[in-house]
Amino acid sequence: MNGHYNQMGIRQKAVSRAFTVLKGTGLGRVMAPLTQGCGAVFMMHHVRPARTGDFQPNRHLEITPDFLRQAVDRIRANGYEIISLDEAVDLLKSGYGHRRYAVLTFDDGYRDNLDIALPILTELQAPFTVFVATGLIERTSELWWLALERVIAENDEVVFTQAGEESGISCRDAAEKNTCFERIVDYLTLEVGELDQRKIIRALAEKYGVDLAELAESLMMTWDEVRQLASDPLVTIGAHTHEHYAMARLDSSSARADVLKGMKILEMELGRRPKHFAYPYGKSHAVSLRDADILRDIGFSSSVTTLPGVLQSSNARDPMMLPRVSLNGRFQDPAVVDQYLTGAPFALYRAARWAASGFGVRSGFSRLFPSTR
Ligand SMILES: [Zn+2]
Repeated sequence: MNGHYNQMGIRQKAVSRAFTVLKGTGLGRVMAPLTQGCGAVFMMHHVRPARTGDFQPNRHLEITPDFLRQAVDRIRANGYEIISLDEAVDLLKSGYGHRRYAVLTFDDGYRDNLDIALPILTELQAPFTVFVATGLIERTSELWWLALERVIAENDEVVFTQAGEESGISCRDAAEKNTCFERIVDYLTLEVGELDQRKIIRALAEKYGVDLAELAESLMMTWDEVRQLASDPLVTIGAHTHEHYAMARLDSSSARADVLKGMKILEMELGRRPKHFAYPYGKSHAVSLRDADILRDIGFSSSVTTLPGVLQSSNARDPMMLPRVSLNGRFQDPAVVDQYLTGAPFALYRAARWAASGFGVRSGFSRLFPSTR
Protein backbone atom coordinates (compact mmCIF):
# COMPACT_ATOMS: atom_id res chain seq x y z
CA MET A 1 0.00 0.00 0.00
CA ASN A 2 2.82 2.33 0.85
CA GLY A 3 4.39 1.45 -2.45
CA HIS A 4 1.46 2.93 -4.28
CA TYR A 5 1.57 6.09 -2.22
CA ASN A 6 5.32 6.44 -2.73
CA GLN A 7 4.79 5.91 -6.40
CA MET A 8 2.42 8.88 -6.37
CA GLY A 9 5.11 10.93 -4.66
CA ILE A 10 7.64 9.87 -7.25
CA ARG A 11 5.28 10.71 -10.10
CA GLN A 12 4.64 14.13 -8.61
CA LYS A 13 8.37 14.77 -8.27
CA ALA A 14 8.88 13.62 -11.86
CA VAL A 15 6.36 16.19 -13.06
CA SER A 16 8.01 18.95 -11.03
CA ARG A 17 11.34 17.90 -12.50
CA ALA A 18 9.88 18.00 -16.00
CA PHE A 19 8.81 21.61 -15.39
CA THR A 20 12.25 22.49 -14.06
CA VAL A 21 13.83 21.00 -17.20
CA LEU A 22 11.40 22.85 -19.47
CA LYS A 23 12.20 26.10 -17.71
CA GLY A 24 15.95 25.55 -17.20
CA THR A 25 16.73 24.41 -20.72
CA GLY A 26 14.36 26.84 -22.36
CA LEU A 27 12.88 23.84 -24.18
CA GLY A 28 9.38 25.20 -23.62
CA ARG A 29 10.36 28.48 -25.30
CA VAL A 30 12.01 26.61 -28.15
CA MET A 31 8.90 24.52 -28.70
CA ALA A 32 6.52 27.46 -28.30
CA PRO A 33 6.35 28.54 -31.96
CA LEU A 34 5.08 25.04 -32.80
CA THR A 35 2.97 24.34 -29.73
CA GLN A 36 1.75 27.68 -28.42
CA GLY A 37 -1.58 28.23 -30.11
CA CYS A 38 -3.69 31.38 -30.05
CA GLY A 39 -5.08 31.21 -26.57
CA ALA A 40 -5.87 29.15 -23.51
CA VAL A 41 -8.92 28.39 -21.42
CA PHE A 42 -7.90 27.95 -17.79
CA MET A 43 -9.88 25.66 -15.52
CA MET A 44 -10.24 26.06 -11.77
CA HIS A 45 -12.60 24.81 -9.08
CA HIS A 46 -12.12 26.12 -5.52
CA VAL A 47 -10.20 29.27 -4.63
CA ARG A 48 -9.49 29.25 -0.89
CA PRO A 49 -6.69 29.25 1.66
CA ALA A 50 -4.64 26.04 1.69
CA ARG A 51 -5.73 23.38 4.18
CA THR A 52 -3.32 21.41 6.31
CA GLY A 53 -3.14 17.62 6.51
CA ASP A 54 -1.57 14.83 4.51
CA PHE A 55 -4.81 13.35 3.20
CA GLN A 56 -6.09 15.76 0.57
CA PRO A 57 -7.07 13.63 -2.41
CA ASN A 58 -8.97 16.54 -4.00
CA ARG A 59 -6.19 19.05 -3.54
CA HIS A 60 -5.71 19.41 -7.30
CA LEU A 61 -9.16 21.03 -7.33
CA GLU A 62 -8.23 24.03 -5.19
CA ILE A 63 -5.85 26.94 -5.53
CA THR A 64 -5.07 29.71 -3.06
CA PRO A 65 -6.12 33.35 -3.49
CA ASP A 66 -2.43 34.26 -3.85
CA PHE A 67 -1.90 31.78 -6.66
CA LEU A 68 -4.96 33.10 -8.49
CA ARG A 69 -3.40 36.57 -8.42
CA GLN A 70 -0.02 35.22 -9.52
CA ALA A 71 -1.60 33.23 -12.35
CA VAL A 72 -3.44 36.30 -13.68
CA ASP A 73 -0.18 38.27 -13.47
CA ARG A 74 1.76 35.60 -15.36
CA ILE A 75 -0.94 35.24 -18.03
CA ARG A 76 -0.81 38.99 -18.68
CA ALA A 77 2.99 39.18 -18.43
CA ASN A 78 3.13 36.61 -21.24
CA GLY A 79 1.16 38.95 -23.47
CA TYR A 80 -2.24 37.28 -23.12
CA GLU A 81 -5.34 39.37 -22.75
CA ILE A 82 -7.94 37.91 -20.40
CA ILE A 83 -11.30 38.07 -22.16
CA SER A 84 -14.77 36.60 -21.75
CA LEU A 85 -15.60 33.17 -23.13
CA ASP A 86 -18.05 34.76 -25.58
CA GLU A 87 -15.35 36.96 -27.03
CA ALA A 88 -12.83 34.10 -27.14
CA VAL A 89 -15.21 31.84 -29.09
CA ASP A 90 -15.86 34.67 -31.56
CA LEU A 91 -12.13 35.25 -32.02
CA LEU A 92 -11.46 31.55 -32.41
CA LYS A 93 -14.15 31.24 -35.08
CA SER A 94 -13.04 34.36 -36.93
CA GLY A 95 -9.51 32.97 -37.12
CA TYR A 96 -8.22 36.45 -36.35
CA GLY A 97 -4.80 35.33 -35.28
CA HIS A 98 -2.52 38.01 -33.90
CA ARG A 99 -4.16 38.57 -30.55
CA ARG A 100 -3.32 36.16 -27.76
CA TYR A 101 -6.09 35.59 -25.29
CA ALA A 102 -6.90 33.65 -22.15
CA VAL A 103 -10.21 32.72 -20.54
CA LEU A 104 -10.67 31.97 -16.84
CA THR A 105 -13.26 29.34 -15.94
CA PHE A 106 -14.43 27.79 -12.67
CA ASP A 107 -16.46 24.58 -12.55
CA ASP A 108 -19.39 23.44 -10.38
CA GLY A 109 -20.54 26.62 -8.56
CA TYR A 110 -18.59 26.80 -5.29
CA ARG A 111 -19.34 29.62 -2.88
CA ASP A 112 -15.66 30.58 -2.71
CA ASN A 113 -15.94 31.67 -6.37
CA LEU A 114 -18.26 34.44 -5.14
CA ASP A 115 -16.62 35.17 -1.78
CA ILE A 116 -12.95 34.91 -2.74
CA ALA A 117 -12.43 34.77 -6.53
CA LEU A 118 -14.88 37.57 -7.45
CA PRO A 119 -13.26 40.30 -5.28
CA ILE A 120 -9.78 39.37 -6.57
CA LEU A 121 -10.83 39.25 -10.22
CA THR A 122 -12.80 42.48 -9.83
CA GLU A 123 -9.70 44.17 -8.49
CA LEU A 124 -7.67 42.74 -11.39
CA GLN A 125 -10.50 43.48 -13.87
CA ALA A 126 -10.39 39.95 -15.26
CA PRO A 127 -13.61 38.48 -16.67
CA PHE A 128 -14.44 34.86 -15.88
CA THR A 129 -16.99 32.10 -16.39
CA VAL A 130 -18.55 29.86 -13.75
CA PHE A 131 -20.09 26.59 -14.95
CA VAL A 132 -22.93 25.72 -12.59
CA ALA A 133 -24.31 22.21 -12.01
CA THR A 134 -27.87 23.01 -10.97
CA GLY A 135 -28.44 19.84 -8.91
CA LEU A 136 -25.59 20.91 -6.63
CA ILE A 137 -27.16 24.34 -6.12
CA GLU A 138 -30.46 22.63 -5.26
CA ARG A 139 -28.57 20.26 -2.89
CA THR A 140 -30.16 17.21 -4.55
CA SER A 141 -27.09 16.03 -6.45
CA GLU A 142 -24.08 14.50 -4.73
CA LEU A 143 -20.60 15.95 -4.22
CA TRP A 144 -19.53 12.33 -4.14
CA TRP A 145 -15.76 12.88 -4.37
CA LEU A 146 -15.85 15.16 -1.33
CA ALA A 147 -18.24 12.89 0.59
CA LEU A 148 -15.87 10.00 -0.06
CA GLU A 149 -12.92 12.10 1.14
CA ARG A 150 -14.78 12.87 4.34
CA VAL A 151 -15.80 9.24 4.99
CA ILE A 152 -12.20 8.09 4.58
CA ALA A 153 -10.74 11.02 6.57
CA GLU A 154 -12.98 10.31 9.55
CA ASN A 155 -12.56 6.52 9.73
CA ASP A 156 -9.75 4.01 10.27
CA GLU A 157 -11.54 1.38 8.24
CA VAL A 158 -14.10 1.70 5.47
CA VAL A 159 -16.31 -1.28 4.74
CA PHE A 160 -17.01 -1.22 1.03
CA THR A 161 -18.93 -3.59 -1.20
CA GLN A 162 -17.31 -4.07 -4.56
CA ALA A 163 -18.90 -6.34 -7.15
CA GLY A 164 -21.09 -7.95 -4.47
CA GLU A 165 -18.20 -8.64 -2.15
CA GLU A 166 -17.90 -6.75 1.12
CA SER A 167 -14.44 -5.97 2.44
CA GLY A 168 -12.94 -3.72 5.08
CA ILE A 169 -10.35 -1.31 3.68
CA SER A 170 -7.81 -0.14 6.23
CA CYS A 171 -7.49 3.68 6.35
CA ARG A 172 -5.29 4.33 9.36
CA ASP A 173 -2.82 6.81 7.92
CA ALA A 174 -2.56 9.17 4.96
CA ALA A 175 -0.93 6.55 2.74
CA GLU A 176 -3.69 4.03 3.36
CA LYS A 177 -6.37 6.70 3.03
CA ASN A 178 -5.01 7.79 -0.36
CA THR A 179 -4.90 4.22 -1.59
CA CYS A 180 -8.44 3.60 -0.37
CA PHE A 181 -9.66 6.79 -2.05
CA GLU A 182 -8.09 5.91 -5.38
CA ARG A 183 -9.42 2.36 -5.27
CA ILE A 184 -13.00 3.44 -4.57
CA VAL A 185 -12.87 6.30 -7.12
CA ASP A 186 -11.64 3.90 -9.81
CA TYR A 187 -14.51 1.57 -9.00
CA LEU A 188 -17.11 4.37 -8.96
CA THR A 189 -15.96 6.03 -12.18
CA LEU A 190 -14.92 3.07 -14.30
CA GLU A 191 -16.73 -0.06 -13.15
CA VAL A 192 -20.25 0.95 -12.16
CA GLY A 193 -22.68 3.19 -14.03
CA GLU A 194 -23.36 6.79 -12.99
CA LEU A 195 -26.70 6.01 -11.31
CA ASP A 196 -25.23 3.11 -9.33
CA GLN A 197 -22.28 5.30 -8.39
CA ARG A 198 -24.65 7.73 -6.67
CA LYS A 199 -26.61 4.92 -4.96
CA ILE A 200 -23.37 3.52 -3.58
CA ILE A 201 -22.16 6.92 -2.37
CA ARG A 202 -25.53 7.66 -0.73
CA ALA A 203 -25.39 4.36 1.16
CA LEU A 204 -21.78 4.96 2.16
CA ALA A 205 -22.51 8.52 3.33
CA GLU A 206 -25.47 7.33 5.37
CA LYS A 207 -23.53 4.49 6.94
CA TYR A 208 -20.68 6.78 8.02
CA GLY A 209 -22.81 9.77 8.99
CA VAL A 210 -21.89 12.20 6.21
CA ASP A 211 -24.83 14.47 5.32
CA LEU A 212 -24.68 15.04 1.56
CA ALA A 213 -27.15 17.94 1.53
CA GLU A 214 -25.27 19.62 4.38
CA LEU A 215 -21.99 19.14 2.50
CA ALA A 216 -23.46 20.87 -0.58
CA GLU A 217 -24.97 23.58 1.65
CA SER A 218 -21.56 24.33 3.16
CA LEU A 219 -19.71 24.55 -0.15
CA MET A 220 -22.04 25.44 -3.00
CA MET A 221 -23.70 28.79 -3.71
CA THR A 222 -27.43 29.25 -3.13
CA TRP A 223 -29.56 30.55 -6.01
CA ASP A 224 -29.44 34.04 -4.51
CA GLU A 225 -25.66 33.82 -4.51
CA VAL A 226 -25.56 32.56 -8.10
CA ARG A 227 -27.79 35.50 -9.08
CA GLN A 228 -25.50 37.90 -7.25
CA LEU A 229 -22.50 36.48 -9.12
CA ALA A 230 -24.37 36.49 -12.44
CA SER A 231 -25.26 40.16 -12.06
CA ASP A 232 -21.59 41.16 -12.14
CA PRO A 233 -20.58 42.41 -15.59
CA LEU A 234 -17.31 40.44 -15.39
CA VAL A 235 -19.13 37.15 -14.94
CA THR A 236 -20.58 34.65 -17.42
CA ILE A 237 -22.62 31.74 -16.09
CA GLY A 238 -22.31 28.54 -18.11
CA ALA A 239 -24.10 25.21 -17.91
CA HIS A 240 -22.63 22.06 -16.36
CA THR A 241 -25.62 19.65 -16.48
CA HIS A 242 -28.06 19.13 -13.62
CA GLU A 243 -26.84 15.96 -11.93
CA HIS A 244 -23.15 16.30 -12.78
CA TYR A 245 -23.04 12.86 -14.41
CA ALA A 246 -20.29 11.93 -16.87
CA MET A 247 -22.28 12.39 -20.09
CA ALA A 248 -20.49 9.73 -22.10
CA ARG A 249 -21.44 7.12 -19.50
CA LEU A 250 -25.18 7.76 -19.95
CA ASP A 251 -27.35 6.64 -22.83
CA SER A 252 -28.00 9.31 -25.41
CA SER A 253 -31.46 10.36 -24.24
CA SER A 254 -30.48 10.50 -20.55
CA ALA A 255 -27.39 12.57 -21.40
CA ARG A 256 -29.49 14.99 -23.42
CA ALA A 257 -32.17 15.19 -20.72
CA ASP A 258 -29.64 16.03 -18.00
CA VAL A 259 -28.07 18.78 -20.11
CA LEU A 260 -31.49 20.25 -20.95
CA LYS A 261 -32.61 20.12 -17.33
CA GLY A 262 -29.52 22.02 -16.15
CA MET A 263 -29.88 24.55 -18.94
CA LYS A 264 -33.59 25.18 -18.33
CA ILE A 265 -33.19 25.57 -14.57
CA LEU A 266 -30.41 28.12 -15.13
CA GLU A 267 -32.58 29.99 -17.59
CA MET A 268 -35.50 30.00 -15.15
CA GLU A 269 -33.41 31.10 -12.16
CA LEU A 270 -31.26 33.69 -13.96
CA GLY A 271 -33.59 34.84 -16.72
CA ARG A 272 -30.97 34.12 -19.36
CA ARG A 273 -30.19 30.99 -21.32
CA PRO A 274 -26.57 29.85 -20.90
CA LYS A 275 -24.57 29.81 -24.14
CA HIS A 276 -21.56 27.85 -22.98
CA PHE A 277 -21.20 24.41 -21.48
CA ALA A 278 -18.55 22.45 -19.57
CA TYR A 279 -18.61 18.65 -19.56
CA PRO A 280 -18.53 17.29 -16.00
CA TYR A 281 -15.19 15.45 -15.51
CA GLY A 282 -14.50 16.20 -19.15
CA LYS A 283 -11.78 13.60 -19.77
CA SER A 284 -11.87 10.99 -22.46
CA HIS A 285 -14.00 8.55 -20.43
CA ALA A 286 -16.56 11.30 -19.81
CA VAL A 287 -16.78 13.01 -23.22
CA SER A 288 -17.64 11.66 -26.62
CA LEU A 289 -18.35 12.98 -30.10
CA ARG A 290 -21.97 11.93 -29.55
CA ASP A 291 -22.13 14.40 -26.66
CA ALA A 292 -20.64 17.16 -28.77
CA ASP A 293 -23.45 16.52 -31.27
CA ILE A 294 -26.06 16.72 -28.49
CA LEU A 295 -24.68 20.08 -27.31
CA ARG A 296 -24.49 21.49 -30.83
CA ASP A 297 -28.03 20.35 -31.49
CA ILE A 298 -29.30 22.01 -28.29
CA GLY A 299 -27.65 25.22 -29.47
CA PHE A 300 -24.67 25.89 -27.21
CA SER A 301 -22.01 28.05 -28.83
CA SER A 302 -19.12 26.29 -27.10
CA SER A 303 -18.29 23.40 -24.82
CA VAL A 304 -15.11 22.96 -22.84
CA THR A 305 -13.56 19.66 -21.80
CA THR A 306 -10.75 18.94 -19.36
CA LEU A 307 -8.66 17.44 -22.15
CA PRO A 308 -5.36 19.22 -21.53
CA GLY A 309 -4.19 21.70 -24.13
CA VAL A 310 -4.08 25.27 -25.40
CA LEU A 311 -6.39 26.64 -28.10
CA GLN A 312 -5.16 26.06 -31.63
CA SER A 313 -6.76 27.50 -34.75
CA SER A 314 -7.88 23.91 -35.50
CA ASN A 315 -10.20 24.08 -32.48
CA ALA A 316 -12.33 26.54 -34.43
CA ARG A 317 -13.58 23.59 -36.46
CA ASP A 318 -15.21 22.13 -33.37
CA PRO A 319 -15.84 24.56 -30.52
CA MET A 320 -17.85 21.77 -28.86
CA MET A 321 -14.67 20.03 -27.72
CA LEU A 322 -12.32 22.73 -26.50
CA PRO A 323 -9.28 21.75 -24.42
CA ARG A 324 -8.46 23.49 -21.15
CA VAL A 325 -5.45 24.17 -18.99
CA SER A 326 -6.12 23.01 -15.45
CA LEU A 327 -4.49 25.12 -12.75
CA ASN A 328 -3.64 22.06 -10.70
CA GLY A 329 -3.56 22.79 -6.96
CA ARG A 330 -0.62 20.44 -6.53
CA PHE A 331 1.60 22.65 -8.72
CA GLN A 332 0.92 26.20 -7.59
CA ASP A 333 4.05 27.77 -9.04
CA PRO A 334 3.81 30.86 -11.28
CA ALA A 335 6.61 29.44 -13.48
CA VAL A 336 4.29 26.53 -14.31
CA VAL A 337 1.79 29.02 -15.80
CA ASP A 338 4.54 30.32 -18.14
CA GLN A 339 5.27 26.77 -19.23
CA TYR A 340 1.59 25.94 -19.81
CA LEU A 341 1.31 28.95 -22.11
CA THR A 342 4.11 27.66 -24.34
CA GLY A 343 1.88 24.66 -25.04
CA ALA A 344 4.96 22.44 -24.67
CA PRO A 345 3.77 20.42 -21.63
CA PHE A 346 0.67 19.34 -23.57
CA ALA A 347 2.62 18.33 -26.67
CA LEU A 348 4.98 16.34 -24.44
CA TYR A 349 2.00 14.86 -22.58
CA ARG A 350 0.45 13.65 -25.82
CA ALA A 351 3.78 12.23 -26.98
CA ALA A 352 4.31 10.49 -23.61
CA ARG A 353 0.80 9.06 -23.69
CA TRP A 354 1.31 7.80 -27.19
CA ALA A 355 4.64 6.21 -26.22
CA ALA A 356 3.24 4.82 -22.96
CA SER A 357 0.26 3.27 -24.73
CA GLY A 358 2.72 1.30 -26.86
CA PHE A 359 4.14 -0.28 -23.70
CA GLY A 360 0.82 -0.48 -21.84
CA VAL A 361 2.03 1.71 -18.97
CA ARG A 362 0.54 4.76 -17.35
CA SER A 363 2.44 7.90 -18.20
CA GLY A 364 3.84 9.96 -15.33
CA PHE A 365 1.92 12.92 -16.71
CA SER A 366 -1.31 11.51 -15.28
CA ARG A 367 -0.23 13.23 -12.06
CA LEU A 368 -0.09 16.58 -13.82
CA PHE A 369 -3.36 16.09 -15.63
CA PRO A 370 -5.47 14.01 -13.22
CA SER A 371 -9.20 13.52 -13.54
CA THR A 372 -11.03 16.60 -12.41
CA ARG A 373 -14.64 17.13 -11.46
ZN1 LIG B 1 -17.70 19.69 -12.41
